[in-house]
Amino acid sequence: MAECKYYSFYALAKINDPELLYEAFQQQIAPGHADKIQIEVFEHSDQLWKKLTPSGGFDLNIDAETLAVLDRRFGSADQGSWYYERAIEGWFCSYKPLTTKHFVLLVKSSDPDKLIEEDYLQFLFHFYCHQLQMLQGTYRDALTGLYNRRAFNEKITQLLDRSDNQQRRAINFSPTIYVMLDIDHFKQINDSRGHLYGDEVLLLLAQQMTYSFRENDLLFRYGGEEFAMVLMDIETEQAQLTLDRFREKIASYDFPGVSQVTVSIGYTLFDKHLSMDQLIGQADAALYHCKATTRNAVHGYHDLIDKGLIPALTGSKVSHLKMS
Ligand code: GH3
Ligand code: MG
Ligand code: MG
Repeated sequence: MAECKYYSFYALAKINDPELLYEAFQQQIAPGHADKIQIEVFEHSDQLWKKLTPSGGFDLNIDAETLAVLDRRFGSADQGSWYYERAIEGWFCSYKPLTTKHFVLLVKSSDPDKLIEEDYLQFLFHFYCHQLQMLQGTYRDALTGLYNRRAFNEKITQLLDRSDNQQRRAINFSPTIYVMLDIDHFKQINDSRGHLYGDEVLLLLAQQMTYSFRENDLLFRYGGEEFAMVLMDIETEQAQLTLDRFREKIASYDFPGVSQVTVSIGYTLFDKHLSMDQLIGQADAALYHCKATTRNAVHGYHDLIDKGLIPALTGSKVSHLKMS
């Protein structure tokens, strides 16, 4: 298991796409074994075990027996990496990434007389790692490691899907903020220092984003020097403070070879009744206001309207104000 990189599992956690994972196991690996094996993935976060469901949500109803096993074996375990062990109930593979989450993959054999061969299971886990690395490649931006545009389209569509299973995200119940961020005068950095320095700025900025926002927040490289974020479970006032703190952090960050980098940030309330264009349009309108005034600033769409600084975007025909 040595070649399974930490970030791979982390990628899965962020993608939160067990559907693909189950498919990988059931369809690709298990044609000859599907009747014999059963796969479950559990996530431990916020002091709770959650069973990831193939539909992309999670289930808190875990039977007492499994829960007891999870708690006994992994409750207080402090593994820094993968390990797996044989158990009467089946096989467990556990991983604790460098986050507050903890994952357990449980593979059960439904035939008590035919326990899964160790070799086969190792193969399965290797395959699992491989799938995670593949997901990483499909959904991650190569330079920054953030979610790429493809992940953006899929994630935002998912979150805006009104018919969606409500448990997929707590977005139905708690306020969520959609954010667009654009580096100020980035072209000048490229022009004066060259593209390599520009790339370094993108990479370091993305790193700072990862350190500064919460684990459940979604961070995307939207394109070029533009980034998007979905901040989960946060009130507007708190989002404004958090984003402003981030803006200041970047303005005072020592980017090698570049005297100062600043960012402009526009955000809006993530409202399920908006189309994707409207959502992006609102955050973009706030971002555009930053660019048209001071740059190095954070503005919220609704606040700007309340203050009469920008007109409200109406109807479904919201044009995507292009910054670059
Ligand atoms: P503004 O403050 O109005 O946003 O100005 P700006 O210079 O940041 O915006 P503009 O859209 O004029 O320029 C964006 C530049 O970003 C142009 C493009 O060459 C550069 N860029 C886009 N993607 C990359 C990349 O991956 N690496 C590097 N080094 N530069 C990139
Ligand atoms: Mg820019
Ligand atoms: Mg731009």
